[in-house]
Amino acid sequence: MSNAQRSPKVVIIGAGMTGILMAIKCLDRGINDIVVLEKADKIGGTWRENTYPGVACDVPAHLYTYSFAMNPNWSRYYAGGGEIQGYFEEIVQRYQLEQYIQCGQEVTSSEFDQGQWTVTTNSGEQYQADFVFCATGILHHPAYPNIKGLDSFAGKMFHTARWDHSVKFDSSVKVGVIGNGSTAAQFIPELVNSGADVSVFMRTPQWIMPVSDRAFGNWERYLLNRSPWLQRLYRWGSTVLLKDFFNRALSGAPIRRWLLDKLVRLNLRRSVKDKALRAQLQPDFQVGCKRVIINTTFYPAIQKQNAHLIRDGIAEITPQGVLMQDGTLHQCDVLILSTGFNALSYMRPMALTGSNGVDIEAAWKHKIEAYRSVLLKDYPNFFLMLGPHTPIANFSIIAMSEVQGDYIMQLIDKWMQGDFDTVSPKQEAITAYQQFIRDGLSGSTWASGCQSWYLDADGDAIVWPYSWASYVESMSQPIFSDLDLRKQDAPA
Ligand code: NAP
Repeated sequence: MSNAQRSPKVVIIGAGMTGILMAIKCLDRGINDIVVLEKADKIGGTWRENTYPGVACDVPAHLYTYSFAMNPNWSRYYAGGGEIQGYFEEIVQRYQLEQYIQCGQEVTSSEFDQGQWTVTTNSGEQYQADFVFCATGILHHPAYPNIKGLDSFAGKMFHTARWDHSVKFDSSVKVGVIGNGSTAAQFIPELVNSGADVSVFMRTPQWIMPVSDRAFGNWERYLLNRSPWLQRLYRWGSTVLLKDFFNRALSGAPIRRWLLDKLVRLNLRRSVKDKALRAQLQPDFQVGCKRVIINTTFYPAIQKQNAHLIRDGIAEITPQGVLMQDGTLHQCDVLILSTGFNALSYMRPMALTGSNGVDIEAAWKHKIEAYRSVLLKDYPNFFLMLGPHTPIANFSIIAMSEVQGDYIMQLIDKWMQGDFDTVSPKQEAITAYQQFIRDGLSGSTWASGCQSWYLDADGDAIVWPYSWASYVESMSQPIFSDLDLRKQDAPA
């Protein structure tokens, strides 16, 4: 607890992993005037929305957990989506957050005026706040491919984040899958195992790193339940693997990068015996340029009789299926769009209006800019959680939210002590920060010549182009000289 003189009103947008975290952080500091607005009918974010077969988190479960609420009961090394959803539901109960969460309230606009935010939802409700924590996630808005004739398809067609569970897969069903990222690598093996005839339309092959999954034994969970030290040891092991090997390999350590490159190449060579198929699956870009897929099931699945890898370009979608540029038609009963997300949407389509009436669409028209991911120039006291330059290779996104949450709460502490009324970054600090990000990207694996959601249309980084350790360091405390801290009645 801080020596607070005053306590803010806080609106948290989104009751996914980050929104839940921020509610806990507020309550921890004695800030009770909070409301969490959730557009759906239940909490969970990513894990509520992604229910495709085989959905799991490819970050080890003991690391994909709040640091303050470890879970000794994870059933597997990589927890399934349903189990992760259950973890967050249990956390909401444990911290008695239900009273603060309002489901079915989609925020349509947030407007800043005279030192206060007014947040409006689709039901017309309005909420006043000193601070808004925008916890709407990164990979939230499905990206639909711009392919001629897509809407003409006569069978069932859906995006992976809108999985149609009424469709049953068996040997009578011909399925077409467009895309082959981390999501596709998880569900394609499930479809192949169902006996369905699965055609995978792969535009760009991706590197796959094999890290085996396994179930935790009853004895192991018994011990984990009795020893917080053991829980921390499991977490530490995964952290070392991701932070000190994987993340450093991508962010510049040459020997680690060389080793990772050898590992993914060896994985392809050992897993796929047929040379022609192997050549089709071989990426032509550096490992890590696109997010590395962690998976052991895709290569075996794509070699099964009922799986077909199709690399020729798609010409168009017809009512019957997928027509290739060479004129071949692949007939499909079901078409699954595993085409990822619009990572640059952030809080939109919500209307966001900052000081002097600045609209976010206008502010970001030419370039999305933020300072230390969470602060935006004309949007005082508005924190965009998991904002630009947040994804940090394959590390745990929960850890990223925690680091950002701690940074933000240091500012809230200062507000509570009456040091300022509004905070936003100075333009020169934003400009310097953008240059710092550009400097890190140049020569990195992310800028080595592939197309990915890690880069914007100009080829600038959406990711943090340095190591995880440097991110933690850079977010450890606010640099107050970079910030425009104002008292309400003070002149501008
Ligand atoms: P993604 O990695 O963005 O992959 C999209 C796929 O769709 C790519 O193969 C892309 O091909 C293809 N595609 C897009 N438009 C296309 C078009 N017009 N024609 C043909 N192909 C097209 O999407 P994702 O697999 O859903 O994964 C997104 C992110 O979600 C991941 O990077 C990861 O951060 C996260 N994720 C995490 C986990 C986890 O376990 N932690 C699991 C799943 C997803 P190109 O490569 O040629 O563009």
